[in-house]
Amino acid sequence: MTPLPPGHRFPMPKFGHLHDHLAAVGLLGPGNLHRPEPAAVETLGRAHDPAYADAFLSGRLDRDALRTLGLPWSAGLAARTVTALGGTVLAARLALRHGLAANLAGGTHHAHRGHGAGFCIFNDLAVAALTLLEEDAVDQVLIVDLDVHQGDGTARILRHEPRAFTLSVHCASNYPARKARSDLDVPLPDGLGDAGYLRVLGHGDEASGFRGLGWLLEQVEPDLVLYDAGVDVHADDKLGRLAMTDAGLRERDRAVLEACRGQGVPVACVIGGGYGDDRVALAQRHGILHEEVARRWRAERARDASRTAAARSLP
Ligand SMILES: [Zn+2]
Repeated sequence: MTPLPPGHRFPMPKFGHLHDHLAAVGLLGPGNLHRPEPAAVETLGRAHDPAYADAFLSGRLDRDALRTLGLPWSAGLAARTVTALGGTVLAARLALRHGLAANLAGGTHHAHRGHGAGFCIFNDLAVAALTLLEEDAVDQVLIVDLDVHQGDGTARILRHEPRAFTLSVHCASNYPARKARSDLDVPLPDGLGDAGYLRVLGHGDEASGFRGLGWLLEQVEPDLVLYDAGVDVHADDKLGRLAMTDAGLRERDRAVLEACRGQGVPVACVIGGGYGDDRVALAQRHGILHEEVARRWRAERARDASRTAAARSLP
């Protein structure tokens, strides 16, 4: 575990709790739990200034840079950071192979090319997108960022990369104060609850020119979706200002998976933001994503099996 000072508002223990929660409900096993390789410096360099990456990894960031980041440096934090980032790259590769995969961390969308911010050191979404594009594993990526905060770092890093389309659906009045320009931004009003949120996701929002996720998938035609399923849209979240419930979160995740998988698009998921003092409740909230990914996975396998059986029974 990465040591943070007692009372630090970044809920580092949630990651361990999430693992334990998913193991307890039977969703983790030797067949589906993969251990990522720490991301190499060259991999980070696809999205980040090498001087910044090197300064962070070697503990040489200055005090101002650490203050913007919001986390105190330690060797443990550096190791954890590159492993979590490796997890998103691995999830993206697994999604291309199997259709669905989910990291137990990730979604560090406030990290910029040359500096970290808002608890985000390196931008796993941008790194994963640029890595797979550079390897020609995909021609087009769509980043669906539904964390309550705008994905400003991702938007800025990928601004000049037309093969990576950035969608950010976020609370307009929330951090960051100075928003970046995503390929498509959908700012939401404070206090929006399940029904309003799900309506926007499914049917769009006239003011921002978004016509719903299904529509966007048809426009962008991605080979891969990177989905940031931040749970800070929840009513009980300490840093969110929307008013979603657990049931609403579940419907949101289900809707994203259905929209993407219904069009045959692989989806790699990351957990994104989630803040609160009850770390166990928080971990269970993040676990909704993995439960829905597992449900979708089982439904797809059952459908494949029945198709195979039907094909075999043909004369
Ligand atoms: Zn967030």
